[in-house]
Amino acid sequence: MVESGDVREIIIIGSGPAGYTAGLYAARAMLEPLMFAGYMSGGQLMLTSDIENFPGYPKGIGGPEMMMELREQAERFGLEVQDKNVDSVDLSSRPFAVTVEGETFHANAVIVSTGAESIWLGAEGEEAQKGRGISTCATCDGAFFREEEVIVVGGGDSAMEEATFLTRFASKVTLIHRRDVFRASQVMYDRAAAHPKIEIKTFRQVSRWLSDDKGLSGAVLVDPRDGSEEEIACTGAFIAIGHKPITAFLGGQIETDDEGYILHREHTMTSVPGVFAAGDVVDTRYRQAITAAGMGCQAAIDAERWLEAQHD
Ligand code: NAP
Repeated sequence: MVESGDVREIIIIGSGPAGYTAGLYAARAMLEPLMFAGYMSGGQLMLTSDIENFPGYPKGIGGPEMMMELREQAERFGLEVQDKNVDSVDLSSRPFAVTVEGETFHANAVIVSTGAESIWLGAEGEEAQKGRGISTCATCDGAFFREEEVIVVGGGDSAMEEATFLTRFASKVTLIHRRDVFRASQVMYDRAAAHPKIEIKTFRQVSRWLSDDKGLSGAVLVDPRDGSEEEIACTGAFIAIGHKPITAFLGGQIETDDEGYILHREHTMTSVPGVFAAGDVVDTRYRQAITAAGMGCQAAIDAERWLEAQHD
């Protein structure tokens, strides 16, 4: 294990709008923050096509473009970013220890903004078809399905966004939802429902995936009301049924709810004094780019004030 010399004031774990905004504020407060942005820096918005609801972008902006601009803005003020994943942390004493690829870094305060990752359906046959037709990211994999028939599973904004995006490539998109009430915002639902290439099937759940020697060939759908089954043919399937927080690397050292979302104790501070959390790793309610950015700002200000109080 290599020990990295200096004790930093702040280490930020995770990028995305929460992390980059925390980095911007911490850097402007002259705290010389170090960020471990993850191998896939930028978080979930790197997988989003257009962001239309972030104030200040009247024509919308691409997710990756926004993340690059946020990063550039924070770096301009001195945020140091390493595109590496944190393996583990030791929060039992201060300074805290953060281990990354065999090297241990120390900091007086830590901001966790690791976000959340896609949940898979777990239906029979899924493991074997991951990457051979079943995906959780239309932005990444949609172009593989030109003029093919695909399905999207889910009834939230992600499912509507994925379905609408996939119409650029697929000949037909069938959206499968397990009930007839949608969590999606009305505007996103309406856009999907009105699209001539999209068919919406309610009261359907995937019970198992079908395959042939080329990969995914279809799915068996079950009606949860009466258990009746039907088959649907598709060569691509996109699962958009929500996300789970990325907290495994914390090793249970911070209090979370039953689903693993970090709980705030005082403002953005967690159950460990000096450790703050922001964005989707905390947020079970709003989960928007703008709210994540706002919480990142709050976490940096809370960390700055907490550090100031420690040095008094
Ligand atoms: P979500 O709103 O939690 O919706 C998840 C959907 O998946 C629900 O329809 C749920 O059905 C369904 N589902 C969950 N588990 C399932 C299972 N095992 N089998 C079948 N269906 C299942 O998640 P999300 O769509 O990822 O959105 C998360 C947040 O991000 C939301 O706040 C959303 O507004 C935001 N978001 C915003 C945008 C945008 O504005 N551009 C884009 C994407 C996401 P039930 O309803 O029956 O539980």
